[in-house]
Amino acid sequence: MASHFVYSPNPARVIFGTGTLNELPAELSRLNAGKPLVLSTPGQASRAESISNLLQGKIAGIYSKARMHTPVNVTQEACEEATKMQADALVSIGGGSTIGLGKAVSFRIGLPHITIPTTYAGSEVTPVLGETENGVKTTKSDPKILPATVIYDVDLTLTLPAGLTATSGVNAMAHAIEGLYAQNTNPVIKLMALDGIRALAEALPVLSKQPSNKKSRESALYGAWLCGQVLGHVGMSIHHKLCHTLGGSFDLPHAQTHTVVLPHALSYNAPNIDPEIMAALAKALPGSEGDAVRGLNVLLKSIKVDRSLKTLGFKEEDIDKAAELALAKPYWNPRKVEQTPVRELIRRAWAGEDARADL
Ligand code: NAD
Repeated sequence: MASHFVYSPNPARVIFGTGTLNELPAELSRLNAGKPLVLSTPGQASRAESISNLLQGKIAGIYSKARMHTPVNVTQEACEEATKMQADALVSIGGGSTIGLGKAVSFRIGLPHITIPTTYAGSEVTPVLGETENGVKTTKSDPKILPATVIYDVDLTLTLPAGLTATSGVNAMAHAIEGLYAQNTNPVIKLMALDGIRALAEALPVLSKQPSNKKSRESALYGAWLCGQVLGHVGMSIHHKLCHTLGGSFDLPHAQTHTVVLPHALSYNAPNIDPEIMAALAKALPGSEGDAVRGLNVLLKSIKVDRSLKTLGFKEEDIDKAAELALAKPYWNPRKVEQTPVRELIRRAWAGEDARADL
């Protein structure tokens, strides 16, 4: 039983299911909007076109230049387009990069934002916006950043390639794992975190072999929603600090970096996490044999993901710099953040070693 906690849920309208994209016209009407600017990455421009078709061409336009880590110059261009085209809403369709652009534009010019996530990153349900300018990633949190409506359509995740399915799913699990030991966690968040981890840990091994398994796609998206909720409600710790540093300052890919770092970050914190939480986490991870770090090692092997920062392009000579950046302005963490073990954590992640309990 928790003795004291604060739980302040974010307002969210969430539509979940199969074929739910067809509910977009009604959701726009609900917001009194009829001329949205549709946002996507270049790779998902055809999805933006299909939104235009669904809305019978009644859109302000399409802006398909969303990029990872929300570069400020891209946001400024999208704001200019939205203003020039007199858009009255934003519809973002895609992963965290497109959703980030939608949030950044909505926050700057005040347009309501409907988001249609197609990965498991979880940004759609958080009031957090990370932006990059001159190689530095900064993060702000404001209730106005939250999208007005989230439409989860399981069908849209069927095209997510097997590799990104795996890493994006682990990215979601990272939110939930850090939410379990957050300084401001609470019983509701822990329930969401554990069920989110359970759903993803069951679905990802199936999806690595059968990417179009509908039932597992549904579980994974449901799990991702729960994990995103966790991210949106409680503070994150060393794992997210390391990934923000590696992504923002070394331009490493988001989901893949989370995947490599997560078992090492958990083993770093394990000695300082409530044993009951570690046991509950282990229970949510098949193959853990009661040891959550082992459970993550087993899961990552079974879904065949890259385990090293080296293969993601991170250089050995940058380990010290990354450790220095991770130690500057550290996030609250259950264990003191110290140079020597953090450097070793990054070294192990760089080398692609299995996580071990001796950090
Ligand atoms: P992403 O949005 O960059 O997508 C990766 C690639 O996959 C893109 O090329 C995209 O076009 C493609 N893609 C996406 N969905 C697809 C689908 N269903 N089928 C085929 N291709 C598809 O990657 P991401 O991991 O979802 O998001 C990463 C970004 O999100 C980072 O910038 C990260 O910082 C941000 N993020 C923010 C928050 C937050 O709360 N602010 C949370 C999580 C992630």
